[in-house]
Amino acid sequence: MKNSKALVLFSGGQDSTTCLFWAIKNFEKVETITFDYGQRHKTEINCAANISKDLGVPNKILDMSLLNQIAPNALTRSELEIKSENGELPNTFVDGRNLLFISFSSILAKQKNINNIITGICETDYSGYPDCRDIFTKSLNVTLNLSMDYNFIIHTPLMWLDKADTWKLADELGAFDYVKEKTLTCYNGIIADGCGKCPACELRKNGLDRYLLKRKGENIDEFRK
Ligand code: ZN
Repeated sequence: MKNSKALVLFSGGQDSTTCLFWAIKNFEKVETITFDYGQRHKTEINCAANISKDLGVPNKILDMSLLNQIAPNALTRSELEIKSENGELPNTFVDGRNLLFISFSSILAKQKNINNIITGICETDYSGYPDCRDIFTKSLNVTLNLSMDYNFIIHTPLMWLDKADTWKLADELGAFDYVKEKTLTCYNGIIADGCGKCPACELRKNGLDRYLLKRKGENIDEFRK
């Protein structure tokens, strides 16, 4: 898209890094915004800043510590153990987080004449977060456009993908190795494959294993033709 600009909500994790590569492919000018809400590990903020620099896109870090004042949770308080009990929302969930993040992003975007906003939120991400749903994103898009009289378009390239599909998308964008080696998903703050034990690492590894298995199968089919 010529003369098009996009702002990517960017945490330096697998999902948003895949979105960043997607944005670089689809838009002429890309910037990122990273939220500092008192994450357990400053590594996450550094990781997002480093990847942005590495890929040559401007990165803005926004102080969102107010979120931790009103809703302390396991992502920010190291004394809380991260857990999810049968069917309930995990205690990493923060009410309204995506609502706030996307809204703040849009305010910054408008100042920069950017109307495309890209977020890695995903309905298939079985945790059941209400503000990861497609209907929420569409509703917020309308609200933002009305509130600022501006034509924002919220893009959610991962909305209907599972973790294996997200690896596939990274691979199609030529970013498989980059995402695998440079991104941080682990709740214990370890880049790339992570600690291997926390729920985020398990989800990431499970998706990667399924994708690699599928890719192997497809290559065999290709070979047989
Ligand atoms: Zn981990």
